[in-house]
Amino acid sequence: MSAPHAPGSGAHLVARSVRVQIDGTEILSGVDLDVRAGEVVALVGPNGAGKSTLLATLAGDIAPTCGTVELDGRPVHDWAVRALARERAVLLQKQGLAFGFHVEDVVRMGRAPWHRTPRQDADDEVVTAALLRADVASLAERLFPTLSGGEQARASFARILAQETPVLLLDEPTAALDIRHQEALLTACRELADTGCAVVVVLHDLTLAAAYSHRICLLASGRVRADGPPATVLTAALLSEVYEHPVEVLDHPHGPVVVPVRHDHLSAAPRSLRAEEVS
Ligand code: ADP
Ligand code: MG
Repeated sequence: MSAPHAPGSGAHLVARSVRVQIDGTEILSGVDLDVRAGEVVALVGPNGAGKSTLLATLAGDIAPTCGTVELDGRPVHDWAVRALARERAVLLQKQGLAFGFHVEDVVRMGRAPWHRTPRQDADDEVVTAALLRADVASLAERLFPTLSGGEQARASFARILAQETPVLLLDEPTAALDIRHQEALLTACRELADTGCAVVVVLHDLTLAAAYSHRICLLASGRVRADGPPATVLTAALLSEVYEHPVEVLDHPHGPVVVPVRHDHLSAAPRSLRAEEVS
């Protein structure tokens, strides 16, 4: 798939003092975040921390109550809808079911922002490449709602790839994926960053976030608790406090490995496997 922008002309997303209130409830409070071209930034934090709200605010889908979000130096709300859709793609946490659409149709929807532009000529090639990259080529003729959850997630990621934007905002894209497809999706994110894209990806698996992101932004209760390279953000003390569960952080050549502290009884063999019961 071609690089969406020439190297060096990459996009830059900046949130400053972003506050979001919904129905009088403060969801985000004073959030600052910079995402530069060439970066994969993992957005992590407990359930309800505000990750999806922040992603939707970065996307321009939610207007901040206070503060600003700028894309390439221009407030995201000043962008025309179609121009914005050529600049940033958004994979939502909750997928629509796309009744009546085949997988290939769903992926082709990602090309809509490029209709009536010279890049329309590449539609077929880009859709084919996206289907292959997300490992859904063999499902292209299937009706989208008949796919498994993980297959739907991969088809939706293919749609995002087909959109060919320099900014990708992905909300829990790996939640339903098996290990191979988790690794493949995040490898694709890194490769997109290498071509000059800026990627923000919400993840729950902190070890996966550590392995594939350049930076981790840890949100808790609507605030940024830490933002930096994985090794500086993923400390046992900070994670145990924020997640309200004790964790250990182990060193590994590919980055920190985060392991929840578990009860001792989990290390015992299951009753059915004990020697005296097997014989
Ligand atoms: P996360 O993605 O980190 O799990 P969300 O950004 O979805 O969290 O939500 C943050 C908090 O804001 C949650 O407590 C959620 O229930 C609340 N929230 C989100 N959207 C709304 C809304 N439209 N109305 C009321 N509360 C909301
Ligand atoms: Mg969420």
